[in-house]
Amino acid sequence: MTTLTPILTKFWDHPRSWTLATYEENDGYSALRTALAGDPADLVQAAKDSGLRGRGGAGFPTGMKWGFLPPPDGGPRYLVVNADESEPGTCKDIPLMMAAPHFLIEGVAITSFAIGCHHAFIYLRGEVVHVYRRLMRAVEEAYAAGYLGKDIMGTGYDLDVTVHAGAGAYICGEETALLDSLEGRRGQPRLKPPFPAVAGLYARPTVVNNVESIASVPLIVGRGADWFSDMGTEKSQGFGIFSLSGHVKHPGQYEAPLGITLRELIDMAGGMRDPDKKLKFWTPGGSSTPIFTDAHLDVPLDFESVAAEGSMLGTRALQIFDETVSVVRAVSRWTEFYKHESCGKCTPCREGTWWLAQILERIEHGRGTTEDIDKLVDICDNILGRSFCALGDGATSPITSAVQYFREEFEAGCHTPAAELFPPAAATLF
Ligand code: NAD
Ligand code: SF4
Repeated sequence: MTTLTPILTKFWDHPRSWTLATYEENDGYSALRTALAGDPADLVQAAKDSGLRGRGGAGFPTGMKWGFLPPPDGGPRYLVVNADESEPGTCKDIPLMMAAPHFLIEGVAITSFAIGCHHAFIYLRGEVVHVYRRLMRAVEEAYAAGYLGKDIMGTGYDLDVTVHAGAGAYICGEETALLDSLEGRRGQPRLKPPFPAVAGLYARPTVVNNVESIASVPLIVGRGADWFSDMGTEKSQGFGIFSLSGHVKHPGQYEAPLGITLRELIDMAGGMRDPDKKLKFWTPGGSSTPIFTDAHLDVPLDFESVAAEGSMLGTRALQIFDETVSVVRAVSRWTEFYKHESCGKCTPCREGTWWLAQILERIEHGRGTTEDIDKLVDICDNILGRSFCALGDGATSPITSAVQYFREEFEAGCHTPAAELFPPAAATLF
């Protein structure tokens, strides 16, 4: 039985959890002192040894990413924190920044020192003005206390931190679109390679890491890589914040070692909201990951186990739907989101998400054609792997998995042959 491990969430219920005073009472900034007294290379090694993998969804090893930066050439190198949390269901970074922003700021300072950066950026989702204010205040507090700015803690190390609010586009959570946006351009993904580690912000070596990844760094430095790697599973080490939403009694953030199961988490969340209603489907990692059903309640929530069952751990955004919910309706809402947020750069995603949304809308309202389910799957096949970035791929995941598990619900909305609904020329299109 896995138990909760409140670490990043430990003092979130303190009445003034976000202040520097509360953070310092909880050992805050002592890891920065340790880090600055040591060798940056040791910090990169500690990140590698800890096994920390990117908490933004992809799970790329954090220490390895830092190690990809080319050797210093005298020019600037940057740390950019991806705080553009926007995936439907994903709601861990925003509460973390609201409740305990100094974890992130201390992590930024340690990571910047580790990679030789003197100007770090936190790119925040545009709509969350309250988070922007909270972060700005915390950054000011850190400057005033000498944890940021010139000659930090008398070590001679200088670091400036800029908090930048985007304009509210989901695509700006894609790291290269984020960099374009930060540079003042329209946020659209860049071709990779080169990866940001080689040519990122202003074409300089740049580490882009998620909020939760960076907030975990002070804990790894303060308590040791072994402490972190002892938690979780063999290949998915450490702990993470699991966000439960939907039909559970107590939705919210649950911090636990990777490998915990949804069954355990639902128990911790007080059970289903209506105990008489069965779990029907859920997302393991936000709306861009294939859905799971009640058959997956005991899948360990680690990168490997979730992938072995055909989905992705992603952002650990566990959206839980009971048997009262129409899966077609849920998938249709998510697809509307992707259609709206598609940046338009590549045809499969720009056109495909628009077609998918139209077909799902008519199936949802019982106006689907007998050809529509195959057409949906065919369009998904033509988006997956053919889009310029992960947004297009992600848009297809809930659809194909929902058809796989609940085909009969889609069939229930598809009655008429297309030829009877549309003139022959249009029928080939729709
Ligand atoms: P990715 O696997 O392409 O890259 C992951 C990271 O590793 C990137 O930072 C990339 O630069 C780095 N990387 C990979 N190979 C590299 C190499 N050879 N050299 C140097 N660096 C390398 O994934 P991605 O497209 O960045 O992210 C997709 C994930 O984002 C999805 O899995 C999804 O879960 C997640 N996501 C999160 C949100 C959110 O709101 N948090 C929203 C949408 C998607
Ligand atoms: Fe833009 Fe979608 Fe193509 Fe990504 S997949 S580049 S979001 S159009």
